[in-house]
Order: sequence, then structure tokens, then C-alpha cells
Amino acid sequence: MRRRALPLTTAAVCGLALAGASLAWKGQQSGFTDTPLLPGSKWRVHDANRPIPEVVTPGALPTNDPVSAPSDAIVLFDGKDLSKWKSGEGPAKWTVKDGYFEVAPGTGQLFTKDSFGDCQVHFEFASPLPVQSADQGRGNSGLFFGGDRYEVQVLDTYKNRTYADGHAGAIYGQSPPMVNASRAPGEWQQYDVVYRAPRFDAAGKVVKEGSFTVFHNGVLVQDHHVIIGSTLYRSVPKFFPHPPEMPLSLQDHGNKVRFRNIWVRPLPPKVAE
Ligand code: MG
Repeated sequence: MRRRALPLTTAAVCGLALAGASLAWKGQQSGFTDTPLLPGSKWRVHDANRPIPEVVTPGALPTNDPVSAPSDAIVLFDGKDLSKWKSGEGPAKWTVKDGYFEVAPGTGQLFTKDSFGDCQVHFEFASPLPVQSADQGRGNSGLFFGGDRYEVQVLDTYKNRTYADGHAGAIYGQSPPMVNASRAPGEWQQYDVVYRAPRFDAAGKVVKEGSFTVFHNGVLVQDHHVIIGSTLYRSVPKFFPHPPEMPLSLQDHGNKVRFRNIWVRPLPPKVAE
């Protein structure tokens, strides 16, 4: 895959998010008032004044066991090893134990060895216990599509105040989740994502829009959100053209988030290509 400098969404900005001089603390409110407006929106990127998603308590799980994968799914983690993943060009450095794997802070983002375009992805995560830090520093990770471009945010937003477009289930920096369907830290949570990759012409112009539909713990949080660009920190999302099929990646934001039961189903294009 073509490599480039990571957008400033990764571990490097975690501290900035908490320590930035322009951070607008209003009680426990977080976010910014000096960032640019999102295109076609009255809200700014990471807007401190944007209403935060209402809390919806998800339905109880019948069991704490992982949901088994459909018969046609490609299993990316089955509880045993990280053979489908890599750290840089070497073996995956995150920690595997007891049927899950955990971010090893400071070792960097994990990438799948294989590439995926339009697809359905299921994964489960658990936020760290005991709770440490707050806001964007609490249980932060994310699943990226298009290599390291488009982040479906993972965050511990159970009774944790943060800005709307940084919540769990956000398309980070561009679309808050419709509701906050988080479970408590330490509990296993599910994301089900439908990703349609944007298509670009030779000049790098979008010729077919990409989108995300996301369910968080069985609750719809993104309803065919049209992707407006790569995830960026404090900036308007911008496209960095790429082939439809790219690796998936998981973010090392310095928090020991756990993952299990990750599978993907490649999808046919919606129209003939
Ligand atoms: Mg994140």
C-alpha cells in the first residue's frame, strides 16, 4: 500500500487533545471552538458546542461468549493468534491472551495482511478497567478502513464526557453517532460496520461516494454516512486517493483496549464496475 504520514488522529494527538490551549472546558464539556466548520454543517470539527449523543442502553446479551462468524466470513482473529495482522512490515506486536488481544501501547497501529474494499466487518472490544484518564484519553482506539484513512472511533464513552464527533461509533471528526449505545468498561461490546469504499479517477477526484453504516451493540449509530475525506485531527477531512481494496487497521492510542472475534465479509459492488 502507498504509505504516507499518518493523519493526526493517532497516539500523537492524545495528549494534545487533553492539553491544547484552545480546549474549551465548560464544566466537563470538551472539544474546540476554533476549528473549521464541517462542509455543509453549522458545526465545527470536534465542536465543543455540538450536542452530545443521547444515551441508549443496549439490549442485554444472552451470553458473554463471542458471536460466531457467518459461514462465508473471513476470520481475522479467532482467539488464538494474530497471524492475519502485522505491525509495520513485521509480526503483530500486540498481546494475545485468553481468547482476546490487547493494544501494546507504543508499538503502533496493527494492519491486516490482506486488503479489503466494500465489506461488512464485525468486531468486539472491551474498554480498560480500572478506568484511567478521561475524555479522548479513555479507552481510545479505532478501526480504520482504507489503510489508515477512515476511522470508526472506539472510545470508552460510558459516562465519559467528550465531544460529539469523537464518541464511540463516530466517524471520527466528521459524523457523531446517532446515539451513545456504550456498555460499561470491561464489558464486551460489538460493532457491525458496512463500508463502501470511495472510488477515485486517475486525477484523484471522487467518482463514486464511499459510506459507512454502523451498529454499536445492535443499535444503529451511522446510517449510510457519506465519507467526506480521511480522518484528520482539528482539520476538515480531506481525501488521499487510494485503490478500493486496502488493509484494515486498529489504532494504538496508548490505551489497553481489548479486541476479539473479528471477521469480515467482502461485498460485491452495488452497481457493475
Ligand atoms: Mg480513536
